[in-house]
Amino acid sequence: MGIRTGAQYLDGIRDDREVWCDGERVKDVTTDVRFAGGAKTMAELCDLQNQPDMIDKMTYESPTTGDRVGLSFIQPKSAEDLTHRRKMFKIWSDYTCGMFGRSPDFMNVMLSSYGAASDAFDSEQSQFGKNVAAYYEYARENDVVTTHALVSPQVDRSRAPDAQVKDIAARIVGDNDKGFIINGVRMLATLAAIADEIVVMPAPSYPLTDAEEAKTHAFGFVIPVNTPGLKLIARPWVVHQNAGSPMDYPLANHFDDSDCMILFDNVLVPWEKTFIYRDIDVYNNAQKNTHTHTHTSHQFATKDLAKAEFMRDLAITVARSTNVDQFLHIQNQLAELIHVAEWVESCIRTSEIDCFPGPGGTVVPRRESLQTVKFMFPPQFRRACEIIQTIGAGGLFMVPSFKMLDSDLSPEIEKYFQAANIDSHERIRLFRLACDAALTSFSGRQQLYERYFAGDPVRSSAGYANSFDKEPSIARITALLDRWEAELG
Ligand SMILES: Cc1cc2nc3c(=O)[nH]c(=O)nc-3n(C[C@H](O)[C@H](O)[C@H](O)COP(=O)(O)OP(=O)(O)OC[C@H]3O[C@@H](n4cnc5c(N)ncnc54)[C@H](O)[C@@H]3O)c2cc1C
Repeated sequence: MGIRTGAQYLDGIRDDREVWCDGERVKDVTTDVRFAGGAKTMAELCDLQNQPDMIDKMTYESPTTGDRVGLSFIQPKSAEDLTHRRKMFKIWSDYTCGMFGRSPDFMNVMLSSYGAASDAFDSEQSQFGKNVAAYYEYARENDVVTTHALVSPQVDRSRAPDAQVKDIAARIVGDNDKGFIINGVRMLATLAAIADEIVVMPAPSYPLTDAEEAKTHAFGFVIPVNTPGLKLIARPWVVHQNAGSPMDYPLANHFDDSDCMILFDNVLVPWEKTFIYRDIDVYNNAQKNTHTHTHTSHQFATKDLAKAEFMRDLAITVARSTNVDQFLHIQNQLAELIHVAEWVESCIRTSEIDCFPGPGGTVVPRRESLQTVKFMFPPQFRRACEIIQTIGAGGLFMVPSFKMLDSDLSPEIEKYFQAANIDSHERIRLFRLACDAALTSFSGRQQLYERYFAGDPVRSSAGYANSFDKEPSIARITALLDRWEAELG
């Protein structure tokens, strides 16, 4: 089959899935206003890869069927493949201004890294590698849109997932000849309401202990969103419910990819969709042994680059509109945004040039360069919001609804909301966009997303520092002091 069109994707998610929001069951996520904007954007991303001028840039020939399949599914064999893949990521992330965190390339890359290292899912105890390899091929050939749910809910974070007193986190409660039964919740899956399937896997920051009870939490699998017993509990929509015009919240109306808690109400997971079952060792090492995090970092660093460039361009446009770009401190802040985009791009390119051999004949981008983006970009995104707030100041907030241009007061609106270099119409739509990027609840959710979507930065950066080989650093400083002491002491 190969790549799907937007219409095929939308048809696929009209499947009676059980999504709950604001106290009611959502009838159809493709038409409900809280989810339809994200679904429409997803459909546009599908259509983009079908465009004749894009097909070579965004797809490649399937190694098994010869169909055109998404380039983010490629198992890269060279630095050139990584660069080719990154250029495809960039097309989708530019289209979404870097604000649609879960465009499907994020998960496609994860599945391709699992597929290349499928033997990481085999052990003396279980042999699920063949399921992982088969699912990777299935997802690639059918252009399946997946999301993931890795983290157990926040109940008592001072205890390991398997040592909780309250029985809330998803766990295995039985099995039979068809599969195993899972009950309880996983905390969060972005995009779940409008995805085809959910990949449920371990989170590296929450390893299991080797206690017998921990085995009931040691699972990994994939399941369609409309599986009986699967309930999605969505957070409220980020758009002001009485907005006069969709143009008042332009980013939120296009790029809210939604977030859901995933409730498994005695859900049967078929054995053929099982990747990990009661195997603590495979569970605790799955992410590390597949290099999946480094591969997904290659995708999200590219999304960060698109986001950095978008915030830079937006800040420049706002500053020009009222001539505040004539002031020294504004010029300094624009320079900061220009630098951020440059260093993110440099890190991505370095990661490709300095790639290293990975499992199954693949290459893995240099981890250190991408980790730098992972840890340093989130505060830079918050800083970009602050810079846009500084440039737009009170005007960022004091713009009326776009709808006012079409009201009885429109002559006054056209006169009093113009700026030095743009008319009222342009000023209102530009400042509403800047407000949505830097100030609204959509922006707040983006800031939280950047801080946490790739796990807890506190534990991951401490883990990273701990894994850094420090002996050469200490030896170097000691040798320097020895030399100077011999010379001066
Ligand atoms: C917008 C958004 C989208 C997301 N999308 C997804 C998704 O699609 N799929 C998915 O699987 N996950 C997703 N996540 C969840 C993400 O993986 C978690 O938010 C992240 O792992 C942090 O966990 P937590 O939120 O439970 O915070 P907690 O673990 O509860 O941490 C709260 C605070 O306590 C501290 N803390 C907690 N435990 C410890 C400890 N043992 N030692 C030291 N400090 C500790 C943390 O540093 C933090 O400051 C998303 C998160 C956000 C915000």
